[in-house]
Amino acid sequence: MSQKTALITGITGQDGAYLARSLVDKGYRVVGAVRRSSTLNLPRLVSLKVAQEVELKTLDMQDFTSIVRLIEEIEPNEIYNLGGQSSVQASFQQPLYTGETSGLGPMRLMEAVKLVLPEARLFEASSSEIFGLKAKGTVNETQDFHPRSPYGVAKLFAYWAVVNYREAYGLHVSNGIMFNHESPLRGMEFVTRKITATLAQIACGGQQTLMLGNLENARDWGFAGDYVEAMWAMLQQDEGDNYVVATGQTHTVKQFVELAAKAVGLDVEFEGEGLEAKGLDRKTGRQLIGVSQDFYRPSEPDPMVGDASKAQEKLNWKPSVNFEALVMMMAQSDLKRAREEQAWY
Ligand code: NAP
Repeated sequence: MSQKTALITGITGQDGAYLARSLVDKGYRVVGAVRRSSTLNLPRLVSLKVAQEVELKTLDMQDFTSIVRLIEEIEPNEIYNLGGQSSVQASFQQPLYTGETSGLGPMRLMEAVKLVLPEARLFEASSSEIFGLKAKGTVNETQDFHPRSPYGVAKLFAYWAVVNYREAYGLHVSNGIMFNHESPLRGMEFVTRKITATLAQIACGGQQTLMLGNLENARDWGFAGDYVEAMWAMLQQDEGDNYVVATGQTHTVKQFVELAAKAVGLDVEFEGEGLEAKGLDRKTGRQLIGVSQDFYRPSEPDPMVGDASKAQEKLNWKPSVNFEALVMMMAQSDLKRAREEQAWY
């Protein structure tokens, strides 16, 4: 069988790097779409030792011409759309840019595929943030939508665009409605990575205090390396569909902090609640963790947990890394990095 070509938008991001590694290992020719900039953002691809094994081409999710040109040039069998403004928090500051890249962007991609290469299969990185306020408890693909952020609104636009391009034009396109997934390659602007990176620095003698938003916020957190396998499995099906991808368990930010602190060798005890909550070093009494209104969001989704039984049944997918192992993996990776930086300076 001839070698398949995969196009990954957002290849320089967390999921892009894990997916590139996985597809190269499966024997694909992988082409990564990157935004034009004066410096290439390659550390994640380098850290998974895949930077030399992919071809990089310029594309911007805001620019229809660049999308059409690239699809015409490389004729991919599979397209994974992971590119766009991906932070819920940032979407409150940049709502229009978020809508452009994460809402209209996927529609540009599907329109280009429809015009140029309708036989290509597409994956759209949808998000549990589309459920928002309506979601109470366990949610699956039949759940109603009520996004609570500009990011969720953009992702819901893209979700319906996927459904429409499937129904109206017969494209093979799937929504992976993914709950939060993390890894040592998670961006620093996301709370999990902020926690592990800051606690690792404190464990190495840093004098900062880790400032967070609501410690009682709960999320269904999985490992990015597992989630990219679900993306691939969706494109191996006979038809496109919508799938929830989740672990089925939630934990609070506070639980994440407690485990991460232990993993880097800090002994933290919490006192107080809400904005008054603090985490103190049990030995010295020094405040290591605090809460600030600045990190609360204008609106939050209701606490929810994902039911991925459809993905399990149809894609034979289930997560391999549990919450404890995920936190340990991230904390130890950041501790190693902090120790290396300490030795360097
Ligand atoms: P990420 O690490 O923030 O990566 C985002 C990628 O998008 C980066 O490669 C970035 O490129 C690229 N990008 C940003 N704006 C772009 C534009 N205008 N044109 C082309 N590329 C652009 O995000 P991630 O965690 O890997 O997530 C991948 C996708 O899954 C995103 O769509 C995200 O919304 C979605 N998702 C993620 C989660 C999660 O928990 N991780 C959950 C649900 C859905 P630069 O390197 O140039 O910045």
